[in-house]
Amino acid sequence: MPRNWTRIVMKGKAQVIPAVCPNCLGPADLKIRYGYKGLEGWVTRTTYYQTFTYCGTCRPQAASGATLRRWGYVGVVLGFIATIAASVALSDVLRDPVTGVCTSLMANLAIAGGAVVGLGVAVLTYLAARYLKRRRHPLQPSQAVWGQAAFYTGSGRWGLDAGTSVYVAAQPQWIAALAHANPEQVDEATYQGLTGTARPSAMPERPFGPA
Ligand SMILES: [Zn+2]
Repeated sequence: MPRNWTRIVMKGKAQVIPAVCPNCLGPADLKIRYGYKGLEGWVTRTTYYQTFTYCGTCRPQAASGATLRRWGYVGVVLGFIATIAASVALSDVLRDPVTGVCTSLMANLAIAGGAVVGLGVAVLTYLAARYLKRRRHPLQPSQAVWGQAAFYTGSGRWGLDAGTSVYVAAQPQWIAALAHANPEQVDEATYQGLTGTARPSAMPERPFGPA
């Protein structure tokens, strides 16, 4: 996601998700659950799931965006198959037509050529899926981004801060709505900075003593 998305660290493991559409900021009542797998998710092998609430216009697009990563995997599998097929075909073309001998240089060229073809197939599969999805669910003037506009990205950096929950969103107003719905999980300064109002004092951090 772009770097200009707004990020917030919530001091807790469970949050009330506001009934505000993260994409167009309209009233929202349709739930959708999807995951986030950042760069570090490929190392820690973790996807962070959360259920968000979208409006009727933005939910189908967010659902379409949530399955785009699957097409990335399909592209990798197709690209791998294409690499093997193209390498075999190229080695047939390159081998000596009379003796039928394929030198190691020719074999290497065939594998390199196959890899280029495979990479192309993988990238094209993903781009074609993305193109079709965007044509089917066009970006609306009211929307900030195409697809999902908010993510739950786990607990702090690399999951080391286990008691917290981090959210990122395209619309800072949605982050403000999240703080507004969970005032006890945000400190006073953050709450005021986001919502422009004082944090409600009727919400002590631990109303019934230590948790
Ligand atoms: Zn919406």
